[in-house]
Amino acid sequence: MAIESEVVVVGGGLAGGFAALAAAREGADTRLLSYKQSTLAQASGLVDVLGYAPDGDGAAADPFEVIPALPDEHPYRTVGVGGVREAMAAFDEVTDRYRGAHTDRNALLPTHGGTVKPTARYPASTAAGVASDERDALLVGFEALVDFDAPHAATHLENAGVPFEVAGATIAFPGGLAADAKVTRYAKLLDEDAPVETATGATRRARNALASAVEPHLDGAERVGFPAVLGDDDPAAVRESLETELGVPVFEVPMGPPSLPGLRLEDDLYAALDAAGVSMETGNPVVGYDGEGGIESVSIDRNGARIPFAADQFVLATGGLVGKGIGSDRERVEEPIFDCHVPHAADRYEWFDTDAFGDHAFARFGLLTDGDLRPLDADGTAEFENLRAAGSVLGGYDFAAEKSGSGVSIATGHAAGAAAAEALR
Ligand SMILES: Cc1cc2nc3c(=O)[nH]c(=O)nc-3n(C[C@H](O)[C@H](O)[C@H](O)COP(=O)(O)OP(=O)(O)OC[C@H]3O[C@@H](n4cnc5c(N)ncnc54)[C@H](O)[C@@H]3O)c2cc1C
Repeated sequence: MAIESEVVVVGGGLAGGFAALAAAREGADTRLLSYKQSTLAQASGLVDVLGYAPDGDGAAADPFEVIPALPDEHPYRTVGVGGVREAMAAFDEVTDRYRGAHTDRNALLPTHGGTVKPTARYPASTAAGVASDERDALLVGFEALVDFDAPHAATHLENAGVPFEVAGATIAFPGGLAADAKVTRYAKLLDEDAPVETATGATRRARNALASAVEPHLDGAERVGFPAVLGDDDPAAVRESLETELGVPVFEVPMGPPSLPGLRLEDDLYAALDAAGVSMETGNPVVGYDGEGGIESVSIDRNGARIPFAADQFVLATGGLVGKGIGSDRERVEEPIFDCHVPHAADRYEWFDTDAFGDHAFARFGLLTDGDLRPLDADGTAEFENLRAAGSVLGGYDFAAEKSGSGVSIATGHAAGAAAAEALR
């Protein structure tokens, strides 16, 4: 017998999370089915709405001004400027860790590679690092954390023309963490303010020892940036201690995977889903469905047993090529659960540009939808009357090039979930 709900959302990333939240808040009995961790664990934790217009010249100052001029098939054109605004308001309710809601304009944040990135929402922990701020900065890296080369990032930022002086220093993180220590180890030591051994052999608290190691490098810097490992449970308390010790504001520089800011956002999203009464089933993949024309149920594979979940409305939010919501082999590009149509050239040599940094068709692979976010078949007809799609399973946009990944997932997820709940009435 199938387990029943009114709305079933497949996929537990930003798109699926915001879809389930919107449906539940509209009063629908909602269930979220998710296999593995989402790309939030890999993403920087910055929430971009639109950093660069597809044919634009440099960074977009105001994403909302650019959206009406996007190509027709872009997911933002489907949900509209109003839909994006509504979804970002929902995002701002889910977490109080973020800044940027006070303006439509993009903020410019330094990245661990030393570039400056336009983004719509950024963790409070990164706020003192904004590149429009003219205070001189010191970037501090840790010897064992090779992903962040602070002197290199500082040089890059200066070359990028930031309006402040920036220096970089690499220090040994007190406590002698192993070269392969996880970022959560750094965060835990700082969260717990655990006793650590310093270079002189003395034992001190981690935050105090870290500040003391940084102090000789300050040289008049008016703010200090660290890789984003400053605490997991209570990053604000860690920053506050370091600021008190150093006497200047402290900020985190978003890092590559695994990303603590991304994981912190995931925690907030799952707490909101819990509070909204969404039922969650995680750890097993959805492997198929039943129904013709309309979907009656989807099934997960739990240790070889197929368990069906029935609902009136479904949302597909399984991610793109990275999240495995879109799969490909040498012959074709496919959506594996419902076999929805994924437009692509028959000749796979047309999937790529010969220039590595060129305009690759595969970057926009994904489902195209009608105005109600229902995936379309090759003839332009809705594949199923009760299936909507959201997030990076959608095509028609290149999130990496235009810097719109989280924004599209939140906006289309919110709209798909609300529409699914609306369709129950
Ligand atoms: C390295 C990296 C860095 C990024 N940096 C940024 C950034 O700086 N700013 C920004 O805005 N965006 C960034 N993004 C993009 C952003 O993270 C994604 O676009 C967005 O989070 C995608 O969300 P999603 O919910 O659509 O998909 P995903 O996060 O991929 O989630 C898909 C979910 O579906 C589940 N799933 C898949 N198949 C099944 C199945 N068969 N059954 C059940 N569940 C299934 C997965 O387990 C997962 O939980 C980055 C992405 C990457 C990969």
